[in-house]
Amino acid sequence: MQPIKEIFPLLNQPRQIAITMHQKPDADAMGSALALYHFLLQFGHEVQLISPTNWARWLNWMPGVDTVFDYELHKTKTDEALQNINWLFCLDFNNMDRAKTLAPALQALNCTKILIDHHQEPDIKSFNYGVSSTAKSSTSEMVYDFIVESGHRSKINPNISECLYAGVVADTGSFRFSSTHATVHHMVAYLKEQGLDHVKVHEALFDNYLENRLRFLGYVLSHRMEVYYDLNTALISIPKTDLLRYGIKTGDTEGLVNYPLSIQGIKLVGFVIDRDEERKWSFRSKGSFDCNTFARNYFSGGGHFNASGGRDNENLQETVRKFKIAINENKTLLQ
Ligand code: 5GP
Ligand code: MN
Repeated sequence: MQPIKEIFPLLNQPRQIAITMHQKPDADAMGSALALYHFLLQFGHEVQLISPTNWARWLNWMPGVDTVFDYELHKTKTDEALQNINWLFCLDFNNMDRAKTLAPALQALNCTKILIDHHQEPDIKSFNYGVSSTAKSSTSEMVYDFIVESGHRSKINPNISECLYAGVVADTGSFRFSSTHATVHHMVAYLKEQGLDHVKVHEALFDNYLENRLRFLGYVLSHRMEVYYDLNTALISIPKTDLLRYGIKTGDTEGLVNYPLSIQGIKLVGFVIDRDEERKWSFRSKGSFDCNTFARNYFSGGGHFNASGGRDNENLQETVRKFKIAINENKTLLQ
């Protein structure tokens, strides 16, 4: 993988470009992809955004989101769009597996593949150019760097600004995680100077749920959370019946994993939902417990040091049993 700056001189030559992101894109994946889209359009490129799957309805306020192809819904259209591209940007993931059923189509492409990502252990041999830095708060911050370092900061318009800000807010836990370096605040200061309406973005991200999601949250915290004080660990496991009962859709469960971290002393939270095709895990930690390694070792996943995810094909009861064994095996790290 060559440094991304090598493509800067090529930005001015119009190309056919696709931008893709990880499955079930969150605000950082979708925000960074849309910001890059609004940037590249200004050079006369033809740009198609592709998501491997659907996304949370509360991301639909983002400017340009209506142009994104959902591969699960529009397979033929997506395959056609991919046929003619010169460049493929992969944002907020670093291993093609994270593109789910879209992965084989991406792997088969002969075009130039460009990575912008902040997760651990990138599969760099799959990309021609790129930047991969776990020190970065978010892929959105990295897209900002890409724009600035290529000498085009003046091209940042309100659409780009809102998308970048949304991604950074989401991935820094509203500027509280340790990845919130001074560079993040410098970036936001610049966006504010350009007229960013940050209140609008916060409300769009956090005050945009339906009533059922809040009632679901109350139910889950009362009935589906277990706390193991001897291991400084909390677990939330959600059976399919709860999702159906409350009409829970993609994105509605996002953020729930963070609640048990507010209990004094809790160092690790495991959160699992019973999806049709798999049991999907999220892990969050505080301090020195490495969630990335934990997810890789036990649940075929990965991510960051303090936030990761994984999956299991076993049923809910069985995967919860595995989690309990896993935390006991990590007793010394958790105590
Ligand atoms: P979340 O719990 O919000 O879904 O994900 C937390 C972090 O872990 C995100 O950065 C996400 O990209 C990463 N992650 C989630 N699930 C997986 C997975 O199955 N594999 C890998 N490698 N990373 C994951
Ligand atoms: Mn991210």
